[in-house]
Amino acid sequence: MTNSKFDFNLIVIGAGYGGFDAAKHAAEKGLKVAIIESGDMGGTCVNRGCVPSKALLAASGKVREIANYEHLSKFGIHTSPIRFERSKISDHANNLVINIRENLTKTLTRSGVEIIRGIGRIEGHQKVAVRDKNGIDKTFSCENIIIATGSSPFVPRGITLDNKTVFTSDQAIKLEWLPRWIAIIGSGYIGLEFADIYTALGCEVTMIEALENIMPTFDPDITKIAKKSLLSSRDIETKSNVFATKITPGCPVNIELTNAKSKEIQEVLEVDAVLVATGRSPNSKDLNLESLEIKTNKGFIQIDDNMRVLSDGKVIPNLWAVGDVTGKLMLAHTAAAQGTIAVENICGHERTIDYKTIPAATFTHPEISSVGLSESEAKASSESENFSLGIVKSYFKANSKALAELGRGWFA
Ligand SMILES: Cc1cc2nc3c(=O)[nH]c(=O)nc-3n(C[C@H](O)[C@H](O)[C@H](O)COP(=O)(O)OP(=O)(O)OC[C@H]3O[C@@H](n4cnc5c(N)ncnc54)[C@H](O)[C@@H]3O)c2cc1C
Repeated sequence: MTNSKFDFNLIVIGAGYGGFDAAKHAAEKGLKVAIIESGDMGGTCVNRGCVPSKALLAASGKVREIANYEHLSKFGIHTSPIRFERSKISDHANNLVINIRENLTKTLTRSGVEIIRGIGRIEGHQKVAVRDKNGIDKTFSCENIIIATGSSPFVPRGITLDNKTVFTSDQAIKLEWLPRWIAIIGSGYIGLEFADIYTALGCEVTMIEALENIMPTFDPDITKIAKKSLLSSRDIETKSNVFATKITPGCPVNIELTNAKSKEIQEVLEVDAVLVATGRSPNSKDLNLESLEIKTNKGFIQIDDNMRVLSDGKVIPNLWAVGDVTGKLMLAHTAAAQGTIAVENICGHERTIDYKTIPAATFTHPEISSVGLSESEAKASSESENFSLGIVKSYFKANSKALAELGRGWFA
């Protein structure tokens, strides 16, 4: 399939799940493919996201379950006081990362994808440049380019990281120590999953949310149940409607909390550590998008449902973008699906994406999952599109499997 005019049929910038799936799928379709990666192969999900956090959740979830004496005694099970080794839990997460990263890299090589290490950027139409670690630039030509550069933790102004006492999920996944009292800034799924891990391992948590209600991105029905089973029944204090306007690392860490409405300083907390989980920023500023006069939305690359890059609503030929850098549903399986769809379109098979059918999960104990429209979105479409809406509720408490597990102690 190589067109001799070009070095490659396809160059993918970024080897997270979006880039990985795109490159692998394109190679399987017979294209000559290169993938450029400036950091660790596998990107956020494998190295700093889904994989290590799920490993920590698996281990800490077992601690939580075995430590729930009252619940276990209802089955006639009696355990002795529980002991765990933090370093072994952390090793488990780290070893899993290494394993999955190696498998992913081998899969790409076996598929015939050329892996190029360095920082990639656009050098005009159908051209990509790579700067290696010695600062040497090489330019390649290609028929198509897929941008899959992902995202990084967003740290609001006023917050100073030292990566020891004040850190983001990039450090938290290493579980280097267990602070007695940790404040988590942000109550999205990352904040909730780490609150689950830390409380299972005996830490006290204060969760701080700038918006009026805790867990603002979740459906209100879910939030109501989650507040009870994930927050108030545990060693978690919540504070909403407050901004962490200044965080100074040290021992203790100082957090200045400002009231979101009055804009006055409300209190100063002294804690052992702070996890900043306030969302993610797109990795797009070093991509030299100006060379093709591409305008972004706060750094997020605009795309259509075929994954073609748009600027001011106009398609940029031969340029595609997938994954977190597009700011759609920022999840690994979305990035992977977008990667495959981009390649299908490059190969001339028209494919679009339907974000409404992509599920989302929060792997707390119990887990939270959702798919499709929220209730308020469904109500809004029923009004605008003039159809009637029904509501059906089913309770986990009444489910036979849940009853067999005695609610696993969460709804007791
Ligand atoms: C703590 C945490 C837990 C998560 N848990 C889940 C989960 O359970 N399920 C789920 O679906 N999602 C989860 N996510 C989200 C998921 O990790 C991301 O949605 C996913 O990694 C996005 O994939 P991506 O390919 O778009 O980008 P990334 O994985 O961020 O990969 C982008 C890659 O591009 C590289 N790169 C950037 N710029 C350049 C450049 N100029 N040149 C070369 N390379 C470059 C980066 O080094 C990186 O390796 C989690 C995220 C976090 C932080």
